[in-house]
Amino acid sequence: MGHPKILLTRRGILRAGAWSIGAGLAPALIGCVAPGPQWRQNPFSLGIASGDPVPDGFVLWTRLAPDPLSADPATPGGMTGGAVPVAYEIAADPQMLDIRRRGTVFALPEDAWSVHVEIGGLPAGRPYWYRFSAGSAQSSIGKTMTAPAANAALPRMRFGFVSCANYEVGYFSAYRHLTDEQPDIVVFLGDYIYENFGRRPGVRRHSDGVVASDLRTYRNRYAQYRTDADLQRLHATVPALMTWDDHEVQNDYADDLSETFDDPATFLKRRAAAYRAFYEHMPVRPSLSHPDGPTMRVYDRFAFGDLIEFSVLDGRQYRSSQACYAKPNHGGGHAETDASCPERRDGARSMLGMAQETWLFDGLAASRAKWNVIAQDVLMADLRERQPDGTIGYWTDDWNGYPACRARLMQHIHDARVRNAVVIGGDNHAFWANDLKLDVNDQRSPTVATEFVGTSITSFGSNFEAYSSWLPDNPHVHFYDSRKRGYALVDVAPERMNVAMRVISDAADPNATLSTLRNFVVENGRAGPIEA
Ligand code: FE
Ligand code: CA
Repeated sequence: MGHPKILLTRRGILRAGAWSIGAGLAPALIGCVAPGPQWRQNPFSLGIASGDPVPDGFVLWTRLAPDPLSADPATPGGMTGGAVPVAYEIAADPQMLDIRRRGTVFALPEDAWSVHVEIGGLPAGRPYWYRFSAGSAQSSIGKTMTAPAANAALPRMRFGFVSCANYEVGYFSAYRHLTDEQPDIVVFLGDYIYENFGRRPGVRRHSDGVVASDLRTYRNRYAQYRTDADLQRLHATVPALMTWDDHEVQNDYADDLSETFDDPATFLKRRAAAYRAFYEHMPVRPSLSHPDGPTMRVYDRFAFGDLIEFSVLDGRQYRSSQACYAKPNHGGGHAETDASCPERRDGARSMLGMAQETWLFDGLAASRAKWNVIAQDVLMADLRERQPDGTIGYWTDDWNGYPACRARLMQHIHDARVRNAVVIGGDNHAFWANDLKLDVNDQRSPTVATEFVGTSITSFGSNFEAYSSWLPDNPHVHFYDSRKRGYALVDVAPERMNVAMRVISDAADPNATLSTLRNFVVENGRAGPIEA
């Protein structure tokens, strides 16, 4: 095993191979153990992760960062110089004795020395363990899985879904308790980071004390979150499906429109930096998701045997602007009535963009899964917000701002006879359990899908008194509560889905305890949540 003199990068460009000596690095000169740097600080400071399980493989992720919060833009994560070889091993046992696959990839400067190893060709439906090494350093051992074979009979699956983990306002005890439950997968529904800082009194601080707005500050924001031990352990031991919401870039952005009315070309540069930093820190497939300027594909579909198919959506990158976007002198969401903003009901408006809508509708029509989960960022149910003057307002940033798009989806689920459609979401910092109606203006119309929204990991809850006062106008809402932080744990079997709303005692307590707020069941063939 010699030191490579020329390294072939992912893009196929030949690159001079010497890794240079930088912060925390010294040249590797020891024999045939593992080529690469002798580290003075742990380069696996951000942990390891796996994601996107398919029947013959998954993605493994890590990022070399001996100084994870480096303030020097020239040395992201404390790294400098060229590509660094990173070896990986995949085993069939937790002690890593029965190695089934090993290889070496190169961590590249243009990816902030992150690696995304796309594994294929493994047997379906079994657990695997994995670890990385680079030079003198070795990562901890992680656990992942291959998905069951397509259409294989699967009697049961458990998954968690999570959203809205503001590092400043709480500890990640909810992530810790979810890890302890060891679900098969975890679905991240957005607001994984918050780009802002110091807006409310918190328990800890975003390290740089700035609003993330360029590549260095977004990178360091993700890196800081990933130094959290509870989040590291979740990623190391539970494979992830990933999508995003707004705070991965900026509050309430829509495609190229910012909340702060930036020039769209300028905002797209910021979005490009934010998307790139997201890519660099997430276990997503490079073949699908490697960013191209301000464009990055995250929407995707994952099936687990014959039991469940996930359509993971992107609710931000392709959406039409919020209705009456500029009206209140700030971009983003606001409440509008039919009289104040007729544009909201324009049939050409889309939450997903037409390409993603077509992709979603085709996938739902073709699915043979017993359960079809639509995983996305924001509240989908119709929500009538009675205003002080008695009129009805609708929030323009969630699906209430895109009612024509929601109506097309409900009609399609109905017409294509999509089996057991269940929508999961985040963003609202509250638990919801809702009927999704074919016609939102007729409570007698069929319920065609079920919606569950999970509360935040830490972020402060939505206004409980205001939302509660709106519920009498929204009888399709079975449950709403914003007063607790936590996550949802879903247990799926062919005949029923159980959704446990798990809550922690106090997000300000690093040792917070766990309890269950409510349990809901959805029965096979009957849309709508039933309290268990
Ligand atoms: Fe949020
Ligand atoms: Ca949000």
